[in-house]
Amino acid sequence: MQHYDVIIIGGGVSGLSCAMTLGSAGPQMEIAAAKKILVIDAGASHLKIAQLFNVPGVTPGTKGVDLLASLASRAAAYDNVSLLDGTVTAVSGTMGSFEVATEASGSFTAEIVVFANGMQTIAVEGIGAEVVAHIRAPRPGMVMIENRGGVIAEGKYVTGCAAGASSMFATAAGYGAQTATDIISLWAGKYTVIHDVAKKN
Ligand SMILES: Cc1cc2nc3c(=O)[nH]c(=O)nc-3n(C[C@H](O)[C@H](O)[C@H](O)COP(=O)(O)OP(=O)(O)OC[C@H]3O[C@@H](n4cnc5c(N)ncnc54)[C@H](O)[C@@H]3O)c2cc1C
Repeated sequence: MQHYDVIIIGGGVSGLSCAMTLGSAGPQMEIAAAKKILVIDAGASHLKIAQLFNVPGVTPGTKGVDLLASLASRAAAYDNVSLLDGTVTAVSGTMGSFEVATEASGSFTAEIVVFANGMQTIAVEGIGAEVVAHIRAPRPGMVMIENRGGVIAEGKYVTGCAAGASSMFATAAGYGAQTATDIISLWAGKYTVIHDVAKKN
């Protein structure tokens, strides 16, 4: 069974933002460079049907599907980040030895698991917390995973809309980055952010 340091379930905005921030830590922190990250995505991001006029830093009118493709290729550009098309069906185990089962690609093991399933359907066995009505739903039927500040249990995180963020690109992306810095901080043993400083001309 292939082993990863972090498996992210869901490759929408929040999952890819989390993966990008984890990947970006590699060049700055030896400990992060050695960590292997896998994003498993079922391909139903809400972003695929969006056109964006109100996202900071994004050209107004950008189609969500194009932005998603660009985020995926930026995440995959990090040597230690891999993307897999697929659906996660179950998670079992505890921090350090989670087993993540998929519908068609077998199972993987992981130190840490991040649920980034969005707010449409969250159908994974063994989450370890209730799936409840979304606290910031723009319409009925949206769901989230109960959590405390993005944590379900030790080594088990939830991020983006699945954690209760509002259905806005910026909040989902921001939550993904937040989750990543929490994980990087765990690795570093102190609170850590990943910043690049502009070069002087
Ligand atoms: C019609 C529409 C228009 C929008 N317009 C705007 C806008 O103008 N401005 C704005 O800021 N925001 C907009 N949004 C909101 C934005 O798209 C969401 O906030 C954002 O996509 C949420 O990111 P997320 O990562 O939480 O979830 P998503 O991007 O929905 O990603 C969740 C991913 O998890 C995957 N997944 C779920 N379960 C599993 C599983 N078991 N195994 C593997 N993968 C799984 C899904 O397939 C999906 O790819 C719009 C949304 C919609 C629907």
